[in-house]
Amino acid sequence: MEIDGLVLRLNPFRDYDAMVNVINERSSFSFLARGVRKIHSKNSFSLLPFAESHFDIMKTKDGLSLKTGNVVNSHSKLRESYQGLLMFDFLSEVTIKFLPEKELYKAYKPIKRIVELLEQGFDHYTLAIIYLAFILNESGYGWNIKGCQKCGQKDDIVAVNTSTGGFICRNCFDGQNGAKLSPRLLKIIRYIFMVQPELYDHISFEKDECLVILSLLEEFILGTVEFSINSLKLLQN
Ligand SMILES: [Zn+2]
Repeated sequence: MEIDGLVLRLNPFRDYDAMVNVINERSSFSFLARGVRKIHSKNSFSLLPFAESHFDIMKTKDGLSLKTGNVVNSHSKLRESYQGLLMFDFLSEVTIKFLPEKELYKAYKPIKRIVELLEQGFDHYTLAIIYLAFILNESGYGWNIKGCQKCGQKDDIVAVNTSTGGFICRNCFDGQNGAKLSPRLLKIIRYIFMVQPELYDHISFEKDECLVILSLLEEFILGTVEFSINSLKLLQN
């Protein structure tokens, strides 16, 4: 079986092998890559972070296994930058944790777009909050940004509730489980939960603004989804 796809994760397995997750527009694949962590492995380049490659994989009794992999687009420039590697860890971890294996391909379009924009030097903090909002939407944890979560009114939104995930109006805000935010931050939150991949480069935000939003989303994820995102720590520096 021959497939083209983008490497989402390479998980070390036994001494020299790895389990690999690859996605393309329509499907997600998980296969074993034997010997790929040996120094002279001919397939290793096709499995580097962000690489888009052509794979020849075969069915074995234990599942899919890689025969050969050839790089189509290595995106090597991203791998050589610290920000690029941070973003790869982040995109990879968040996607794997939130989406079931069969649905990983749903992240292909946004990730491909983010890779393209990172290569153009677009702000990675902005892309990080956009991607986190995308993955929350996709996994059923999207925030309610249409109006006040409690009473439904659309005006006078002043805060977010980080335990239920959504907007709160002035009347309903009780000072607990969340924070009052500036109109601009509320606008950014609405934006990231709605923006489509084609428009990811519409606007970039200040680093400080992105960090506030990242920590609000993290608070929500820790409390509601109940897992932590390890790669966030480095991204928040
Ligand atoms: Zn309300």
